[in-house]
Amino acid sequence: MLGCVIHGPGDLRVAELPEPRPGPGQALVAVRYGGVCGSDLHYWRHGGVGDFRLREPMVLGHEVVGTTLSYGDGASGPPLGTAVAVHPATPCGMCPECADGRRNVCRDTRYLGSAARFPHVQGGFAAQVVVPAEQVRPLPAGLDLRRAALAEPLSVALHALRRAGDVRGRHVLVTGAGPIGCLVVAAAKAAGAARVTVTDLLPAALAYASAAGADTLVRADDPTDRGWPAEVDAAVEASGVAAGLDTCLRLVRRGGVLVQLGMLPPGPSPFAGNLVVSREIELRGAFRFDGEFDEALTLLTAEPLFDELISAVVPARDAESAFTLAADRSRSCKVLLDFGS
Ligand SMILES: [Zn+2]
Ligand SMILES: [Zn+2]
Repeated sequence: MLGCVIHGPGDLRVAELPEPRPGPGQALVAVRYGGVCGSDLHYWRHGGVGDFRLREPMVLGHEVVGTTLSYGDGASGPPLGTAVAVHPATPCGMCPECADGRRNVCRDTRYLGSAARFPHVQGGFAAQVVVPAEQVRPLPAGLDLRRAALAEPLSVALHALRRAGDVRGRHVLVTGAGPIGCLVVAAAKAAGAARVTVTDLLPAALAYASAAGADTLVRADDPTDRGWPAEVDAAVEASGVAAGLDTCLRLVRRGGVLVQLGMLPPGPSPFAGNLVVSREIELRGAFRFDGEFDEALTLLTAEPLFDELISAVVPARDAESAFTLAADRSRSCKVLLDFGS
């Protein structure tokens, strides 16, 4: 079967891989679409993401949907041939964080296509993938596989918003209008935010944020842009660059919540820490998600506008060009690999 394997910076190979077999408790899924994530692009360009470095070849991909092919011993789930989305996380279930209901920060989790642990967890950019059977979710009626491919990144956005607290009637700032930033915009509007302001350097990215429901678009590099708010109630930093964090720190109101969602460059990041002190800003991280996955499937089913954030579907054998496209934010939002064509 076909799979997309990263060997090091710039070294992405579409290779013939052995077909996996589901072990006890596992499901085998025929992958149809895999969404190219910012983290996949980081592995491709830099050989790592955040503080996680690539130490062996790894099948990329954690945003996967497809149909159930078979189950291993003792496993059950939706009937074979059912369209499903794959929850990519397998928390350990035993550590203090899991016991505390914070499974997304489990200290011993397995996450598809992640180099956070060694040996790395192989990902889902392949014609078939094996996962624990309880991680496959049948798609709700009315949701097609293509839109369902957004379930994982939308879950990330929903979790970030949960970390921001109740945004009903509030003004929310989102820095960074990449796919995740756009999904945060859509999630914030769905959660009842009165106003969402988005900043980015690229007009094309801001256009996607507008499609996602943003009220105000701001060119991040233009201090005279008339869209700059005096202050906001909550901020979600979705660009992963220090300048975005700085913008959030300066604009979130006193006592407001700032959620750092974007993965910053490896190592320490300088930031205006005195603003955190003097304004009692609540600086919170948001990492992955847990139960938000089911919420994401429901929201995707109800809201056709999400289709507009899928800017291209590329055959998996052209993975390199799909990655090149996804890395060029002037030409793309979410790019999907198609393993079924
Ligand atoms: Zn992702
Ligand atoms: Zn755990």
